[in-house]
Amino acid sequence: MSKSYQIAVLAGDGIGPEVMAEAKKVLARIAELHDVDFQLEDKLVGGAAIDDSGSPLPEDTVAACEKADAILFGSVGGPKWENLPPDQQPERGALLPLRKHFGLFANLRPAVCFPALTHASPVKEDRIAGGFDVLCVRELTGGIYFGEPKSIEEVDGEKVAIDTMVYKQSEVRRIAEVAFTAAQGRGGRVTSIDKANVLRNGILWRETVEEVAKNYPDVKLDHLYVDNAAMQLITRPREFDVVLAPNLFGDILSDEMAMIAGSLGMLSSASLGESKGDGLYYGMYEPSGGTAPDIAGQGIANPIAQILSAAMMLRFSLGLNEAAEAIDAAVKAVIDDGLRTGDIYTGSEGQTKVGTAEMGDAIVAKL
Ligand code: NAD
Repeated sequence: MSKSYQIAVLAGDGIGPEVMAEAKKVLARIAELHDVDFQLEDKLVGGAAIDDSGSPLPEDTVAACEKADAILFGSVGGPKWENLPPDQQPERGALLPLRKHFGLFANLRPAVCFPALTHASPVKEDRIAGGFDVLCVRELTGGIYFGEPKSIEEVDGEKVAIDTMVYKQSEVRRIAEVAFTAAQGRGGRVTSIDKANVLRNGILWRETVEEVAKNYPDVKLDHLYVDNAAMQLITRPREFDVVLAPNLFGDILSDEMAMIAGSLGMLSSASLGESKGDGLYYGMYEPSGGTAPDIAGQGIANPIAQILSAAMMLRFSLGLNEAAEAIDAAVKAVIDDGLRTGDIYTGSEGQTKVGTAEMGDAIVAKL
C-alpha cells in the first residue's frame, strides 16, 4: 500500500487560490509517479476566513494543521481588510499565531536565480552568469525581536527605547542543526553570520555554531560579520550555499537575497518547527511574495513559488527527496524551454508568454 501523508492546504487570498490550484496539480502527479498518497484538507485562512467567520485563523483551520504532517500555505491579505485593527488583520492575525502555535523557529528562504533569468536581477549579469542558488536559514523566534526587557520609557525628561538581544545556546544549536542538515543535501557549505566583533550574542553564536559543526564533518563552515555579508552576497552570490543568520540579520539579508534573485513569483519559503528526530520537521511552506492584488483573478500570476514551496515540503517534512528534486528539475526545464508568466517575460526571442494554469500544466508534463 502506498504511504499516505496529511497536508493542510491554506490557500488564503488574492492570487493564493490561483497558484495553489497549480501546486495541487503537481502534487497529484507526484502521487501517481512516486506511489504515495496525499490527503489534502483545504481550510480557510486570512481575509477569506474573516469574511466567512470573522476570524483570520478559525479554530477548525488550526485543528486541521495539528492533524497534518505539514501546512501548505498560499498568502493572505488585501485592500479589503487593510482597515481592520492590526491584530485582526489577515497577516498579523493568521501568520504570527500559526508560527507561535507550532513553534516554527527556522525560516528557510531559497534565493534562486535561474541561469535563464539573470537579466531579471538588479545585479550586473557578468557577476551572476550561470545564475545562483543560496539558501538563507534565519532564526525566527529569538533574538532582539523577542528579547525582554522591551520598552519605551521616559528617563531624565526624554524618551528612551530598549530592545534586548537574547540567545540561549540551545536556540543557536537547533537553528545551526537545520542549516548544516540542509547543507548536506546541497552544496555542503554553511556561512554563519554574526557581529562577534561587537556583540556578546555574536561570540556565543559563533562558538555554538562551531561546536555544532563538529557533528557535520562533511560540511564546510565559514563566518562573516553581517556588514561584510551584506556586501559579499551582492557582489559574489554564486559563491554562497547556505547562509545561517540570527533573526534580525536574517530578516534583512534574506530580503536582500530575494531582491537580487529577480522575481518574487519564483521564490519559495519554509518555516520549520522542532525536528521529529528523523531529520524531518513539521513545517509551513509558502511563497515569499504576497497576494498580489494588482493581478489577482486574472489567471496570470506565476505559480512557481507555490510549486517550489510544495517541493520544499516534500523535502523537509515528508522526506520525499526524489520527488522534490523532480519538481525542481521540471521547473528549471520549463524555464529553459522559454515559458514565462508576465512577471518574468521580457519579450526576448524564444520566450512564450503563458498564464498561471498553462505554467502549472507545463511543469506537470515535465515531471
Ligand atoms: P506582493 O508580493 O503581493 O506583490 C508585490 C509585487 O509582486 C506585485 O506587483 C505583484 O503583482 C508581484 N507578485 C507577487 N507575487 C507574484 C506572483 N506569484 N506572480 C506574479 N507577480 C507576483 O506584495 P504587496 O503588494 O506588498 O502586498 C499585497 C498584499 O499581500 C498585502 O495585503 C500584504 O499584506 C500581503 N502579503 C502577504 C504575505 C503573506 O501572506 N505571507 C506576504 C507579503 C504580503
